[in-house]
Amino acid sequence: MKNKIKNKFMLIPVLTAVLSLAMLVFFNYAHKSTTYKSYVIFLNDVSSKHVSTVYLSSSSKVMVKLSDGTLYETDNPRTNDFKETMLKSGITVSENMPTDTRQAIPMAGLVLSIGAIAFMGIKSSGIASKRMLSVDALDTTSVTDTKYNFEDVAGNEEAKESMKDLVDFLKNPEKYAEYGARMPKGVILYGEPGTGKTLLAKAVAGEAGVPFYAVSGSDFIQVYVGVGASRIRQLFKKARGNGKAVIFIDEIDAIGKRRDGGKTSGGSDERDQTLNALLTEMSGFNEKEGIIVMAATNRLDMLDSALLRPGRFDRHIEVNLPDVCAREKILKLHLKNKPIGNLNVKEWSHKTSYFSGAKLESLVNEAAILACKDNSPTINDLHLDQAFSIVLAGYEKKNRDHIKDIDKKITAYHEIGHALVSLKVLPEEKVSKVTIIPSTKGAGGYTLSIPGDNLYQNKNYLKKRIMVLLGGRAAEEIIFGADYITTGAHNDLKQSTKISFNMITQYGMGDTLGLLNMQELLDLNLNQDEVIKECKNLIDSIYEEVKTLLLSERDNLEKMTSLLLEKETLYSEDLIL
Ligand code: ADP
Ligand code: MG
Ligand code: ZN
Repeated sequence: MKNKIKNKFMLIPVLTAVLSLAMLVFFNYAHKSTTYKSYVIFLNDVSSKHVSTVYLSSSSKVMVKLSDGTLYETDNPRTNDFKETMLKSGITVSENMPTDTRQAIPMAGLVLSIGAIAFMGIKSSGIASKRMLSVDALDTTSVTDTKYNFEDVAGNEEAKESMKDLVDFLKNPEKYAEYGARMPKGVILYGEPGTGKTLLAKAVAGEAGVPFYAVSGSDFIQVYVGVGASRIRQLFKKARGNGKAVIFIDEIDAIGKRRDGGKTSGGSDERDQTLNALLTEMSGFNEKEGIIVMAATNRLDMLDSALLRPGRFDRHIEVNLPDVCAREKILKLHLKNKPIGNLNVKEWSHKTSYFSGAKLESLVNEAAILACKDNSPTINDLHLDQAFSIVLAGYEKKNRDHIKDIDKKITAYHEIGHALVSLKVLPEEKVSKVTIIPSTKGAGGYTLSIPGDNLYQNKNYLKKRIMVLLGGRAAEEIIFGADYITTGAHNDLKQSTKISFNMITQYGMGDTLGLLNMQELLDLNLNQDEVIKECKNLIDSIYEEVKTLLLSERDNLEKMTSLLLEKETLYSEDLIL
């Protein structure tokens, strides 16, 4: 924008210079071709009193100016009394060449315009260096009324729910202040790309009717130290100038990546300053102002802990990939207002496992484009079929869209293994969610249960916890056979080993050490093999118990697994035996 204006002004002196130069060349040429008249004609003109001036020089020609202004050249007689003769006949004799005013103007123009260009050049380089420091260079788009609201976000119910009170707070910050409630200043949305984090932030601003300032963390990473920090300050100044606002920082990890100790390279100094500026600004405004800073990242665990402390980004909201039910809602949302024909949305929601919201949106869009190309009056299954291949091909291979059916099945049996054992042996604990949709909680899927909050955990309980942990592996072995067990149990085994080791060495629940504590015994250099052997025996016997249990529950194992495969996520109400 600014650049264009600068160029426009630059154009004026440049044009003037070119024009002046052209005129100079032209007149010079015209001058060179000044007509030549013979000395006789000149003498005639002299006697008839037509000549007004004679320009005398050492050259072989003299220039003659008649009283009507015409110029011509004639031969220099080089006589000693030429000047005197002329003067006697009342003719002015000049020993300088005629200054042609027609030449003087373009000459002045040229000099002036060159000066102007030089001046502007210096000034504009000054502008450029100033621009780097100014927030204007950032794409801070303030959309006073983002037209988005929660209806534009399908699925993501949990995330939406936790944002509702943010909206209420933005609407009446004074009310919360009266109650002395400390509302969050910073909210971090985390989850896979394309799951709707930006959309949710926009929706919060839209629902609350406040301006939305969006920037990206990567915009703040500059070569010069201090630039990022100054941009942060200006961004906040701008947002606060308008009263209530949602400030959205995408890719917060670009400025807030965890600082690892001494390893400070050149760029991290700049990042530290930017991060500190952000933290200072965030503690600078008070709750009554009604400003919420929302940030998005793909990985919460990458962020510096300074960012996550209370009073900063202390609310963390996970935004997950949609399960089959959410995918149906998202597909329907994006198909709304489009002419749809013979189209089975439910079936498409099943075919698109592991698709993000963004990918579903582009699937629908591609289908619409294809239908339009076909001149088909409606979008139908055929178009979605073609669009499906386009979208899949467009995204990089490593993506999980193609998780093989068998992997999905293994995940489902594994997770139901955990859930089923939990329901059987720990009925007092609620299994709140079982899913095969990957998230930060687990690469394949995960089972979430809410443990009772008891002060002590007894031996029986610990044994049952180990049972639940081993349930995943046991289910795999029962269904697919001992040769086909997978690496999926890695974490479960780490945890169960830790529990059994602690039981035997810390809590006095084993036989090898009895009531002795391992730590105190370590100085004695005692042989740990015995302890390891007992840990192994304990785990082995519990594992056998789990397998027996699951075998007796095989019907439920199959039934629940196929339900999980179909729905992708099960909640406690689906998990009743
Ligand atoms: P993120 O910020 O998490 O990478 P975006 O919010 O930028 O994802 O999502 C990109 C686009 O994908 C959105 O503009 C929207 O069209 C679509 N989209 C993503 N999630 C959803 C959703 N839950 N409901 C509806 N559309 C969605
Ligand atoms: Mg985004
Ligand atoms: Zn597991």
